[in-house]
Amino acid sequence: MRWSSFYNTTSRIFHEYPSWSKSVVICTVISGGGVVAYADAKPAQSDNVGHNRKKKVVVLGTGWAGTSFVKNMKSSSYDIHVVSPRNYFAFTPLLPSVTCGTVEARSVVEPIRSISRKSGLDIQFSEAECYKIDPKNNKVYCRSGQDKKLGGPEEFSLDYDYLVIAMGARSNTFNTPGVQEHAHFLKEVEDAQRIRQTVINLFERASLPSLSEEEKRKLLSFVIVGGGPTGVEFAAELHDFVHEDLSILYPSLKDYVKITLLEAGDHILNMFDKRITEFAEEKFSRDGTDVRLGSMVVKVSANEISAKERSTGEVVSIPHGMVVWSTGIGPRPEILEFMKQLGQINRRAIVTDEWLRVEGCDNIYALGDCATINQRRVMEDIAVIFSKADKDNSRTLDIKEFQDVVGDIIERYPQVGIYLKKNQMKDMATLLNKSQESSLTVDIEYFKEALSKVDSQMKNLPATAQVASQQGIYLADCFNRMELCEKYPEGPLRFRGTGRHRFHPFRYKHFGQFAPLGGEQTAAQLPGDWISIGHSSQWLWYSVYTSKQVSWRTRALVVSDWTRRFIFGRDSSRI
Ligand code: FAD
Ligand code: MG
Repeated sequence: MRWSSFYNTTSRIFHEYPSWSKSVVICTVISGGGVVAYADAKPAQSDNVGHNRKKKVVVLGTGWAGTSFVKNMKSSSYDIHVVSPRNYFAFTPLLPSVTCGTVEARSVVEPIRSISRKSGLDIQFSEAECYKIDPKNNKVYCRSGQDKKLGGPEEFSLDYDYLVIAMGARSNTFNTPGVQEHAHFLKEVEDAQRIRQTVINLFERASLPSLSEEEKRKLLSFVIVGGGPTGVEFAAELHDFVHEDLSILYPSLKDYVKITLLEAGDHILNMFDKRITEFAEEKFSRDGTDVRLGSMVVKVSANEISAKERSTGEVVSIPHGMVVWSTGIGPRPEILEFMKQLGQINRRAIVTDEWLRVEGCDNIYALGDCATINQRRVMEDIAVIFSKADKDNSRTLDIKEFQDVVGDIIERYPQVGIYLKKNQMKDMATLLNKSQESSLTVDIEYFKEALSKVDSQMKNLPATAQVASQQGIYLADCFNRMELCEKYPEGPLRFRGTGRHRFHPFRYKHFGQFAPLGGEQTAAQLPGDWISIGHSSQWLWYSVYTSKQVSWRTRALVVSDWTRRFIFGRDSSRI
């Protein structure tokens, strides 16, 4: 059924929607979700004439996903209301730099009101958190977090036609005892500011004349849990801060400082290429940062952190002055509650389709760290794909038959494209030929076999700013173009009941990733597995992060902070 819709798409569209026949471009195709069709021009007539009320879009969150959605909205057909407990956008990749004063906190934030004003649209903002989503009644319940002096929390509810959930995630403690009470997280701007203050507090305290050597050693023992990009970058920043600035100002304390990085897995930065991992581990060991691999934290207390060593099974305790916890993310309680209402239990994030629409909801979208896309498997649809490709019902496919649908299959199932690229095959024809060298036709069994490994290339998208911001841009683009299709104003996804889609599914484009390692050295892994490590990548990092700033104001501030740091070093005043 799904496949048949593809084969008949062109003729049916022209038949069912004659007014569109000159102006509709059918871009792509098929399958599980149905046909993807894309309207590039306004329909000649609209069902919706006289329907003047603007649709109300409520956006929850002002992080990477929510802000890029708001920033890219151009259509004035919506009333947009943004709700977030933060009235600003924060450039999270620079938070590790904020922890040590390389960059100031105010240089990495931009007020959301200033961002929305620049969009030229009338966008409302409420500084509040959403504590309940009611999808049945199209309502969200919110509470302002203002302190009692200002009149205490205020509660209100908002109705919506469309809801965009971009509430991010929270740090995951894996229920490890003591983490919530005694560890620092590095997730928000306030966390970075607290870490900066704590580091300076510890140095000042360790300088007091009454302290014993052992106490000094304990105070200046910094433990970082989690060897992912954030933990590694913070460890590198802290090392540079201590060795470039604090050791000059506190010369007698230099030898008491110890930085320990605990990682439960076999290596730090394990999502990066092996060459980067090795370089980082060697650099940290040269720098004197103690990297302990296979070390699983079991408890954190005010003075000690206990970790179980995988190799020996022993539990080792390390006295600490400060613990920074950076082991990944988990869903926020409000998101968990919403997922429960949808029956999405045992998932780590809200499940959406490839158009970012929440499964089971017509008018709710979820993006960024709080969501995960349910990518469709080729093997689920394999029989239908085969029978529809086999136009002459010969029960075999010749290459010619296949060629007609190859592009559509790759569009609908991106894992096929990844598989071909990885195995250095030009196209699907090569893949089929590989399965059956001697013949130019394949039957269903060969077809299945050829594609059997393709689904193994499916991966969940990483929880990164890159993904979140691309999703925000994508969804805004869908909303902007929705008005071109006034005939079906119910959403960017599905033409009523026909199973066809007006927009391409979301496709993530990976531009590479950085791992700053301190000492003006950065590792960069760019598309095509191009690896670069060292000072030149550090300059690439500076230029990419400058260009990615959300405004000229923050761009100027960040560059001037870097310049100030080069000339004067980092500021260690405890303010
Ligand atoms: P967030 O940016 O976290 O935004 C969530 C928003 O929702 C916030 O505005 C929050 O206030 C709001 N919110 C929370 N609760 C509620 C509620 N109840 N109601 C309404 N609103 C709510 N990614 C990269 O690609 N490259 C990097 O270099 C990089 N470095 C990072 C460094 C650090 C220290 C951290 C913490 C993250 C880093 N990331 C990086 C990851 C990246 O920041 C996240 O993937 C990204 O922020 C996700 O965007 P989001 O919009 O989903 O969530
Ligand atoms: Mg055939």
